[in-house]
Amino acid sequence: MSRIIIHIDMNSYFASVEQQANPFLRGKPIGITGKHQERSVIATASIEAKKLGVKTAMSTWEAKRICPSMILYPGDPEKYSYITCQFNSIFNEYTDCVEQFSIDECFLDVSKTATDYLEAIVLAQIIRERIKETCGEQITCSIGIAPNKLMAKLCSEQVKPNGITTVNQQNILKFLDTCKLKDLCGIGTKIENRLNALGINTFEQLRKFSLEKLVNEFKSYGYWLYEAAHGRDDSPVINTYEEPKSIGHSYTLSENTDNKKEMKYCLLGLSDRVAGRLRKECLVARCVHVVVRYADFNEMTQQQKFTEPTSNGLTLFKIAWQMIDQWLDESKPVRLLGISATTLSRGNEHQSLFKKERKVHSLQKTLDEIQNRYGSNAWTRASLIDVHFKERSSGFHSPNSPSTM
Ligand SMILES: [Mg+2]
Repeated sequence: MSRIIIHIDMNSYFASVEQQANPFLRGKPIGITGKHQERSVIATASIEAKKLGVKTAMSTWEAKRICPSMILYPGDPEKYSYITCQFNSIFNEYTDCVEQFSIDECFLDVSKTATDYLEAIVLAQIIRERIKETCGEQITCSIGIAPNKLMAKLCSEQVKPNGITTVNQQNILKFLDTCKLKDLCGIGTKIENRLNALGINTFEQLRKFSLEKLVNEFKSYGYWLYEAAHGRDDSPVINTYEEPKSIGHSYTLSENTDNKKEMKYCLLGLSDRVAGRLRKECLVARCVHVVVRYADFNEMTQQQKFTEPTSNGLTLFKIAWQMIDQWLDESKPVRLLGISATTLSRGNEHQSLFKKERKVHSLQKTLDEIQNRYGSNAWTRASLIDVHFKERSSGFHSPNSPSTM
């Protein structure tokens, strides 16, 4: 049976995630690097930097020479994994067959969801919009639609950024003949050179080459090359998606404290972050888990289940604080606080019958949209205006590592 496979590839992924999180970086050439910038390479260049000639894997000094105005920015793998989880969860709403190919690429088998290519294109457009809505406007992707994974990936390479390219069974060969050998995932420079040495420079020539000679030269890879030249690939999309089981944040205070007010503010900030992530992933929680680590490293944890599922920060905070307030050992200073939402399910918070609660709900939606558009520091609760969450390498498991919440 003929399949319909969608390949989705995020454009300049790490750079656009940083540009989404920090409006100052938008529209500017930026390069994402390792920790030690001066000895590092460019892991991802922003679309603006690429236009000026900066390429992935270029050394930072070379990139700076080509583009002196480029901003070098250290990568934050935790942040990128978080956004990857977000778009994976979107894909899973449209098919139960999602294979994560790399941190910024996925294959979706939509054969059951879309009956033809037109429907698949509409689906791809909807998914693209959903990514924009959920992850932010800066996060763009290129999409390829084809009867198999190999051709879908080749399609998504065609138009960057933001393109949708399709090829169906009837025009696969025509399409292949417009591509270079090296464009195909699986043909690197070494294989290309060996093919060239055999007088093969195009897919058409590769198709006409004898299978026997190819196998002689490349062993079993020869079969693969021969099939690839015909646009054939029967490898299945293997589902790798798993629903998140919990969403949590913890924070090590800059100084140990026995000040309850300070703890409350910290917990409220963490609750807002957890709730924001729940809403972004269209999840609600039925259980809250809290952790308090004292200065002597003794830890207390507790959890509470509740019947009304929620994705509201204040609600999570109230439940969490009530637990902590009951058993906190006030004689011991506190070092770390953490909160996780667990027993998650897909859905939105129940719409209240009360006008005031409905107002809070719609305000929350607007605030989420503002953060999506202008970054995570776009707003904060008035009560948290003086609370500063310092960025550190460990302790604060925040996707956006804000300086203020
Ligand atoms: Mg990519």
